[in-house]
Amino acid sequence: MEVAAASEDCCVKVAVHVRPLIGDEKLQGCKDCVTVTPGKPQVQIGAHSFTFDHVYGSTGSPSSSMFEECIVPLVDGLLQGYNATVLAYGQTGSGKTYTMGTGFKDGCQTGIIPQVMNTLFSKIESLKHQTDFQLHVSFIEILKEEVRDLLDPASLNKSDTESPNAGKAHVPGKPPIQIRESSNGVITLAGSTEVSVRTLKEMAACLEQGSLSRATGSTNMNNQSSRSHANFTITLEQMSKLNPISGDGSPNDITSEEYLCAKLHLVDLAGSERAKRTGSDGLRFKEGVHINKGLLALGNVISALGDERKQKGACISPADINAEETLNTLKYANRAR
Ligand code: ADP
Ligand code: MG
Repeated sequence: MEVAAASEDCCVKVAVHVRPLIGDEKLQGCKDCVTVTPGKPQVQIGAHSFTFDHVYGSTGSPSSSMFEECIVPLVDGLLQGYNATVLAYGQTGSGKTYTMGTGFKDGCQTGIIPQVMNTLFSKIESLKHQTDFQLHVSFIEILKEEVRDLLDPASLNKSDTESPNAGKAHVPGKPPIQIRESSNGVITLAGSTEVSVRTLKEMAACLEQGSLSRATGSTNMNNQSSRSHANFTITLEQMSKLNPISGDGSPNDITSEEYLCAKLHLVDLAGSERAKRTGSDGLRFKEGVHINKGLLALGNVISALGDERKQKGACISPADINAEETLNTLKYANRAR
């Protein structure tokens, strides 16, 4: 098909995932207002029709075909030294956390991040006779334009010894993480924890610990996870065992064939709903404005993107009560293509 062929060369791909109607929506008597065109990556809502790189309908889990088609190529790319980012965009309740697997209550076994881990480790297993691998994980949350470290060792110790809800990601008194840009344009998060992991179990523990730190905030009335962006980053370094380093072994002698380093960012974005829907009090309205500003900036970045590979998953609810937000999400996602 024309669109698919044209997008082969594009560094940004957009997949739409329509989750099934859930309990609450069924109880309210919601009707399904999103139609997936059979055999086409196309969705219809009212008189509007949109075509994306991929569309996954409401049947099945965060479908294995979505993982195979959209995510496995990025894991392969990571092993070849390519950076990539997966962004889950959509209104609160549309299934972003379920799809990414950052919630830990539901979807964590089948979500994208756990599946990335399984796939990555099985690929590493088959390559380790010829390559040395080093893996690091970071997990941060951005709330009101402040970066919080979800893997802060201080918070991990705390949650070990106290109640499960005691592990707070941002330790009072500890300054928030600074976003810095070096002279060569590399963005770093100064002070964020980079955990070295050797096994699937160790990486899964990072996801679990960070997800729980994140969920802590949702025990009060405001659901923190819907108002913050969460970014799980896997950094993969590889050194070939097959081509021994020539010369005296100093870093300058290492060629790009012998050493590779790449990052995969897996991002569960804050809810994209308009500020008016997130609540009436001043604080939440302000947060909503921050979020919308951030997502607008992100949209601009994605539209202008050049060198990185991005995979964007837009999550939508099929329910008619959400039709307005669903239409906004589809318009936004359409712009990213
Ligand atoms: P978001 O992170 O976008 O706010 P959630 O991931 O928390 O949304 O999902 C909202 C609700 O919908 C949760 O109860 C979740 O279990 C359910 N849900 C989301 N996606 C699916 C799906 N593909 N299949 C079944 N239930 C889903
Ligand atoms: Mg969520």
